[in-house]
Amino acid sequence: MRKSKKWMYRLLVVMLLIASCRAVNPVMIYFENDTPSTSYGESWKGHLENGKRMPSYGYNFSGVSYLLLALGRNGVHSAVRDLTVAAYDTLYSLHPEWRYLYGETGWVKGGKFWPHYTHQNGMVIDFMVPVIKKNDSSVVMLPHSIFKRFGYAFEFDSLGETSAYRIDFESMAAHLHFLNTLAPGYHLKIRRIIFAPEFLPYLYQTSYGEEMKKLLFVYNKRWLRHDDHYHTEFQMIE
Ligand SMILES: [Zn+2]
Repeated sequence: MRKSKKWMYRLLVVMLLIASCRAVNPVMIYFENDTPSTSYGESWKGHLENGKRMPSYGYNFSGVSYLLLALGRNGVHSAVRDLTVAAYDTLYSLHPEWRYLYGETGWVKGGKFWPHYTHQNGMVIDFMVPVIKKNDSSVVMLPHSIFKRFGYAFEFDSLGETSAYRIDFESMAAHLHFLNTLAPGYHLKIRRIIFAPEFLPYLYQTSYGEEMKKLLFVYNKRWLRHDDHYHTEFQMIE
């Protein structure tokens, strides 16, 4: 009896911790000011003033982890937040069945953001690749528990597949399309995207192929393989 009580107590503590993690981000957002953000420096050496937290989730998107959100690893420039949410909303109005996940962004005040080299000035978001299940083509979110390193641990083959999942390049291209076309309305543009170069032909085959060819995809062999997320950097424009 005592043993089971102890077990129940532990379970309760874990559940409370998980529940409190969920509550942190909305509460922190509630207390944010409305002052637009200012980004300083570069993504690899910079900081952010009046940075904002990304919302935990919307109808068709969510962050990868309540723990990371509670820690405040979802800070961005206010314009980047507004653009990102607007792009998700537009996608939802056209393809309500599609689902999106975003990963790490940066600290609300910017600055060094281990283990990333960049993500320092509120202009970068790691978007996790949208996926479908191979067996029935159903839309799912990339598994993103702590044991899957929040989605960052996936290894996709050269076709963009794992044993169970396939990257939905059409859904990904549509996402980049709306980020790209809505960006000027927020005084932003996409500066560059880091993504596995072997997957670019699949993006170019989508209905947004011609537009994808005009986006700047960069990659360096010394970098971590970007097969499970597309690291997207924005830039302010006049
Ligand atoms: Zn990144």
